[in-house]
Amino acid sequence: MRIAILNKDRCQPRRCSHECEKYCPRVRTGDETIIFAEDGKPLISEELCVGCGICINRCPFDAIMIIGLPEALKFPTHRYGPNGFALYGLPVPQKGRVTGILGPNGIGKSTAVQILSGRLVPNFGEEGGTWDRVLEHYAGTALYDYFKAVSNGSLKVSQKPQYIDLIPKAFKGKTSDLLARTDDRGVMGELVERLDLSHIIDRNITELSGGELQRVAIAACAAKDADFYFFDEISPYLDIYQRINCAKLIQEIAQEKAVLVVEHDLAILDMLADVVHVAYGEPGGYGVMTLPKGVRIAINQYLKGYLPEENVRVRPEAISFEVHPPRNETEIDT
Ligand code: SF4
Ligand code: SF4
Repeated sequence: MRIAILNKDRCQPRRCSHECEKYCPRVRTGDETIIFAEDGKPLISEELCVGCGICINRCPFDAIMIIGLPEALKFPTHRYGPNGFALYGLPVPQKGRVTGILGPNGIGKSTAVQILSGRLVPNFGEEGGTWDRVLEHYAGTALYDYFKAVSNGSLKVSQKPQYIDLIPKAFKGKTSDLLARTDDRGVMGELVERLDLSHIIDRNITELSGGELQRVAIAACAAKDADFYFFDEISPYLDIYQRINCAKLIQEIAQEKAVLVVEHDLAILDMLADVVHVAYGEPGGYGVMTLPKGVRIAINQYLKGYLPEENVRVRPEAISFEVHPPRNETEIDT
C-alpha cells in the first residue's frame, strides 16, 4: 500500500522537462503511471506505481513524495483529491474533558479541526463528501452524536489560532474592541483580570508583545459561547506561570464543554489534558491520529518514538533528557 503525493505549489511543469514522466520506468514500458492532467500537472497512479522513487529524485523542484503505508491505513478519513494529503483517523472531542493532540506540524491537525468544526466534510478518500455518508460511517461510535450536531448546524465552535502574530494583520484597533466583539458569555472582565491584561486593554493590538497577544487570543477564544473549543498551542511567548494560568482556565471551560488542544510543551500537556491522541506521519504527505491514550502513556510513547498498540515507530531514536547540560572539559594541573 503506497500513496503518491504531489505538492502542487512546488510542481512547475512549465519550468522543468517533465522529468517525473520521462524517467518513470513504468511509463517507459508503456503504461500510464504518470499522466498530465488538465491543470497541466502530473497525476500519479498509486495502483500502477511500483515505488522505485526515481521521480522523487529526478523532479528538480522536490514536488513528489511516494510513501509506503502500513496495510491498516487503507481508507483515509479525508483526502485532498488524487495525489493530495491524506488524513487517517480523527481526534474525539468529548464534553467534560480536554483532548490533546501531540505531534509535529504538517500532519493534519488543521484538517482535523476543519472537519470537527464542520467547515470541511470528510470524503473518506472518494470524490465529494456528504454528511449523510459521515453519519453512516460513524454510526455507533463516539463521534456520531458530535457529527449529528455539526451536520444540522447546531454546534458552535471557538478557535484560538496557532499563529498569533497574524492577529494584528487581521484586526486594527484597540485590545478592548477586539475582546468586546467575542464576549458572548459576558466574562471578559474576569478573563482580563485572570490573564493579566488590564494594563494593555486600551493599547492598540499592533503594539502588543507576543506574550500579550497570546493571552488576548486565549481570552477571545474562551469568552465565546461555544460547544467545541480548540486551542492551537497556548505556550509560545508565555512564561511557565502564565502557561499554568491559561491551562487552569481551559480546564475550567472543559468541565462543561468539549475542548481540543494542540500543545508541544509536554509538561503543560500533562497537566492540561485528560486524554491524548498521538499524531504521526509525513509532514505534507499523510497524517495519522491514534485512538485516545492516557496522557502519561501517550507522552512516554511519543518520547520513546514507538507506539506499541499501533506497532509503529514514529522516530528512529528515543528522546532522552540529561540530568544536566554537558560539562566543559578542563585541564587540571597536577
Ligand atoms: S513533478 Fe517535478 S518533474 Fe514532474 S512536472 Fe512537476 S516539477 Fe516537473
Ligand atoms: S516511484 Fe517510480 S514507478 Fe512510481 S511514479 Fe515515481 S518513477 Fe514511476
